[in-house]
Amino acid sequence: MAPTFADLNLDPDVQRAVDAMGFEEPTPIQAQTIPLLLEGHDVLAQAQTGTGKTAAFALPLVQRVDTARREVQALVLAPTRELAVQVAQAVHDLGRTRKVAVLPVYGGQAYDRQLRGLRAGVHVVVGTPGRVMDHIRRGTLDLSTVRTVVLDEADEMLDMGFVEDIEFILNQVPEERQIALFSATVPRRIAVLSRHYLRNPQRVTVAQDAVTAPQTRQMYVEVQQRDKVEALTRILDLESPSSAIVFCRTKREVDELSATLDARGYTSVAIHGDVSQSQRERLLLAFREGRSELLIATEVAARGLDIPDVTHVFNYDIPDDAEAYVHRIGRTGRMGRKGDAVTFVTPREMRQLRWIERAIRKNLRQVRIPTPGDIAARRREALLTSLVATVESGEARLYAPLVAELATEHDPQELAAAAIYLANGGAGGRHEDIAAVPHPDPQDLPDGEGGMTRLYMKTGRQHGVRPKDVVDAFTAEAGIPPQSIGAIDMFGDFTLVEVERKAATLVLERASTLVFEGREVDVTLARPRDTPKGPRPGPPHTPRKRPRRPKG
Ligand code: AMP
Repeated sequence: MAPTFADLNLDPDVQRAVDAMGFEEPTPIQAQTIPLLLEGHDVLAQAQTGTGKTAAFALPLVQRVDTARREVQALVLAPTRELAVQVAQAVHDLGRTRKVAVLPVYGGQAYDRQLRGLRAGVHVVVGTPGRVMDHIRRGTLDLSTVRTVVLDEADEMLDMGFVEDIEFILNQVPEERQIALFSATVPRRIAVLSRHYLRNPQRVTVAQDAVTAPQTRQMYVEVQQRDKVEALTRILDLESPSSAIVFCRTKREVDELSATLDARGYTSVAIHGDVSQSQRERLLLAFREGRSELLIATEVAARGLDIPDVTHVFNYDIPDDAEAYVHRIGRTGRMGRKGDAVTFVTPREMRQLRWIERAIRKNLRQVRIPTPGDIAARRREALLTSLVATVESGEARLYAPLVAELATEHDPQELAAAAIYLANGGAGGRHEDIAAVPHPDPQDLPDGEGGMTRLYMKTGRQHGVRPKDVVDAFTAEAGIPPQSIGAIDMFGDFTLVEVERKAATLVLERASTLVFEGREVDVTLARPRDTPKGPRPGPPHTPRKRPRRPKG
């Protein structure tokens, strides 16, 4: 039986904070570490980002803080400012019900803000070693009341040369203290540090060994958290899976994602621990019968369900460990059928991915997020294939006399275009993408005037964008030299930019979506009609509405 949070002896207050976060069940590292830390042991835990390690130390920490005493009782050291901020946020969230005060201190932020915070009195300080040491030296941080120290991502801290700072800091905390050391790897230097400073440390590692179905294509996409919805919808549009499961980490995420996708025109059912048994059965039936194309679930909820084989499994969040990974993707590729498993990995979680790969002895193939151009090309291809197949099958021949009659007065090409237009949704359909003649690969482009390629963006003067912004974005995001950019023609709501051919390829590869004045804008090759003289300069792609799927 997997342990539950109820098995972990958390105070009701802390348990409420866990519930509010939407965590249903402790991750393996949490199940093992939390009891040890609550009992006061020193712990050496091997775990990486994505395993739930932060809550593994933050929960005991907030539970053990004596909030009646407004003094620094716990110190967390983290290698980077980003991690320090993230950990402080987690401590804040999990300590909210107990009113635990936490302060992040890191290099690069003004001292006075941190000083004010420290003077006001906080229970937990989360900081980078250098800045924490500075505060100690200046006498602005007193560690004599600290009872718990956490070294987060200790191997990273050592790699970054913080060993002396860490030793200096550990020598400032009282003898009677608890230390939790978290590290993705345990090289000799970590073992040495642990031997010096930890007392009778309990080792925690998460067992990793598992195998996956050979006929499942396993892929990953590197994606920032904030871009996940867009990435998922683009893959869904490209692949049009007939049935897919999307695994999220928390109940809240399941609900939010389901609502977001439904608002965008997909049909999903959401299943997690708060959904009653009878409701689950009803939702699952909708999924089984194809009334919903997507099942969005937490891993825990999915475990108890008899889910039919699906064509796609999406790990919207990377699983805690290899076992969970294998279990999740086992929902596809059953009985020799083909399946695709796509795992979303944020840059910070790359190590967790490598860890999983090592455990399953298989490397996941990296794929990129499809561009609107990819999706348009796929839809066009599907349309052309079904047209040609229909012609070849002769099924549509019964309309031949009708066409013959119409052709006496109308151009057959115009008639065919009108028929496709109607088949593709008529006035309500989305035609721009499909109708566009495929964009040639920039490599194959004939050198235009002076070897320049013209790019199109649906943003312009009326959005407050200036030519300088365009140059800045192209050089910063695509890394092209400013001199490779030629004329920039800005219009009301769109812009044409001339870029040297090679540089244009780089822009399309690396910066196909840019942000101007807070709006995301796709960069695409300009078509000949994207000129101010044309009838109405239309965008090559404006993926707003859900594309209809070509039938068949
Ligand atoms: P970490 O490995 O600490 O970076 O955590 C990775 C993510 O997992 C964070 O977004 C946490 O909020 C989330 N998380 C931590 N513990 C749990 C849990 N028991 N159930 C679901 N999600 C969790």
